[in-house]
Amino acid sequence: MAPPYRCLMANVTGTFRAVERYELVKDPVAGGLDPAIPDDYGVLHAGLLGPEPWSGLREQVADATEPIFLFGGRAFEAACGRYAKVLIPKPFDSEHPQACPRCMAAIGVKG
Ligand SMILES: [Zn+2]
Repeated sequence: MAPPYRCLMANVTGTFRAVERYELVKDPVAGGLDPAIPDDYGVLHAGLLGPEPWSGLREQVADATEPIFLFGGRAFEAACGRYAKVLIPKPFDSEHPQACPRCMAAIGVKG
């Protein structure tokens, strides 16, 4: 059986982007701290949506328009086995300069 992940341009269908950490940035208007994706977030991991129906975080990221930040002990296991704290609702880009090579190997695409 063929793998369910197809490479459409560089964006891999059935996947989303994930990074391992977020930073808290002061909101100049409200004065509170807002989570943000740091400039030096490291590598870009791939999260797998898998077959529908989705549930839990997969359902949330499939419906999201903004990044989802996971606080406290919450995390999502990326395709390579690393734990991500930020889930970005865009397909994983295998040509991204920071694309995780282990995630690419896990989902069977080349950079
Ligand atoms: Zn990875």
